[in-house]
Amino acid sequence: MDGAIIRRAFEQLYPGKEFPYTSRVTFSARFRQYNASIVRCAASLEVRASRQWEGVNQDIFTGLIQTLLVKLFGQPIQQPYTIDLYNRFIRNVHVSIPKTTSDALLEDSFVRVNGQFFSGQVELANLKWGGSSTRKLGCYDFQTDTITISQALLGQDNRLLDYVMFHEMLHKKLKFASKKMKNYFHTSEFREWEKKFPLHEEIEHELRQLGRKGVRKNLFTWFGEKFK
Ligand SMILES: [Zn+2]
Repeated sequence: MDGAIIRRAFEQLYPGKEFPYTSRVTFSARFRQYNASIVRCAASLEVRASRQWEGVNQDIFTGLIQTLLVKLFGQPIQQPYTIDLYNRFIRNVHVSIPKTTSDALLEDSFVRVNGQFFSGQVELANLKWGGSSTRKLGCYDFQTDTITISQALLGQDNRLLDYVMFHEMLHKKLKFASKKMKNYFHTSEFREWEKKFPLHEEIEHELRQLGRKGVRKNLFTWFGEKFK
């Protein structure tokens, strides 16, 4: 396949940045489902994708390429809509358990965070708003695969919502990575992951401020021992 799609995907992702590569796309039966990878070798860039990707909508495929490019070149300043399209697509083909609870705002947040930090690979959870507690801003329930977000975050900056969503999604993700551990909350791996969120210290400060307007006692138990 013509590699020009990789150049276009790159330019959309990083406007104004030079693309000094020759590029190509290959399809292979070696990959399972909708897997793909990117290989950079000197001045060449190759995207290898499973056969399932042949014939998939170009915008969605562009989103896949961009998700792979981010792994090599880092987060863009702004995430193009094509990555969202890709995430939605992948989420739909990968979801094995039907989800019964969702909400547009929460789902948008989930999709954003999934695209930005997890290459869209975290399966959609049930999503719902909880009460308006500032004591507990979010929680993840493993049994029902449900992320609950406090309504205290409604109307706040998306960054705050996304950060709490990110935290809860880490619980969902890392649970599988550390299945046999008894205590899987806020491990050092978890903390390392958390630091990937841009300006996380600033956001935590803002969340504390939000909490001060509400209940003083036991703030941010969702952070667990972190704020003890
Ligand atoms: Zn937690």
